[in-house]
Amino acid sequence: MFNYTVRSLDVRNNVIYMTLARGSNSAKIDFLPGQYAALGYYRPNGQPTRLRTFSITSSPDNVFLEFAIRIIGDFTHGLAQLHVGDGIFLQGPFGNFVIDPSIDRPAVMIAGGIGITPFMSILRTPAVMNTDIQLTLLYGCRTIADAPFYEELVQLTKHYPNLHLSVFVADSSEMSADPSIIQGMLSAQHIKQIVAHNADATFLLCGPDAMMAMSYDTLYAENISADSIVSESFSHSSKLTIGSGYNLQKLTYALSGALLILAVTGVSYLDLSRYISSNAAAAPTSLTNTNQPAPSNNYSQASNDESLQQQPARTYQQSYQQPVTSVS
Ligand SMILES: Cc1cc2nc3c(=O)[nH]c(=O)nc-3n(C[C@H](O)[C@H](O)[C@H](O)COP(=O)(O)OP(=O)(O)OC[C@H]3O[C@@H](n4cnc5c(N)ncnc54)[C@H](O)[C@@H]3O)c2cc1C
Repeated sequence: MFNYTVRSLDVRNNVIYMTLARGSNSAKIDFLPGQYAALGYYRPNGQPTRLRTFSITSSPDNVFLEFAIRIIGDFTHGLAQLHVGDGIFLQGPFGNFVIDPSIDRPAVMIAGGIGITPFMSILRTPAVMNTDIQLTLLYGCRTIADAPFYEELVQLTKHYPNLHLSVFVADSSEMSADPSIIQGMLSAQHIKQIVAHNADATFLLCGPDAMMAMSYDTLYAENISADSIVSESFSHSSKLTIGSGYNLQKLTYALSGALLILAVTGVSYLDLSRYISSNAAAAPTSLTNTNQPAPSNNYSQASNDESLQQQPARTYQQSYQQPVTSVS
């Protein structure tokens, strides 16, 4: 568990923009751009909250940790009431929603609403941006005012010529002379146009389920392979389907089930062969005690009621050459 304190907290258009500083007795959370953390805080009566997951919006190069959090329910309403200096506890990092800058491959990022958050960390990280990687960001929002980080994204495109931004504004009453602002929602047609010029890209999706499902279906129809698509769903009741009818949750359960069967089969086989060989060597013998204590699961309550796994994703670590930073 990492202990941080609130350094600043702003609420704009129902989104909390929060900066955290590392507590003096806490280690620094070491993450890759695009990963998320599970965080909690203390209620006014001193009770700790459950943990909820949020993508980190700051770059790992930043000594402070940043989040942008849409206020939805009880947890986020309580979070909005915190003050500078209040404590926040964190677990993580989690997730594989990352770009490896050592692989020179274009990336197409498809974001919707608050789903822009993991991309902000990626786009704020010089190790990603100071490369020749061509980055295309398609960002869907209801209105420009409702689009977190819009101004910063425009500034980033001025700074990094390899970043191409298109913002899709659903509210048809909003007109703009800016060619990067497109009226109407992101559609399959737009994605097809992007694929035509980026067939070798990695596609990263984070946004509302309907947008992600449409993007998946279109990418599949355009023959983009599954291993070129990375997605992050903020909803733990995702109905996202891949291609024609695979439910992501079902697929995850099926894969986990298959892995579990393989693991159990492997362990049983090993136990059996060990038992046979030890019995053959020194019979009669007593069986060794296989009642090992269950491994503790530090993350069992760390998610929005889903089981989290700490994701090392450390194969990418060296590409970032993160400086060791500390806050006193
Ligand atoms: C990997 C990941 C990264 C995320 N990153 C961000 C981010 O950067 N910014 C952001 O604003 N949000 C993010 N979210 C979503 C965020 O975790 C939830 O929206 C938030 O916890 C809900 O807050 P609440 O105040 O409604 O919670 P509560 O008041 O505790 O919950 C109210 C109700 O909503 C349910 N609920 C809680 N979380 C979710 C959820 N994710 N989906 C569906 N139902 C839920 C609860 O079970 C409960 O019934 C992320 C989610 C995931 C899984």
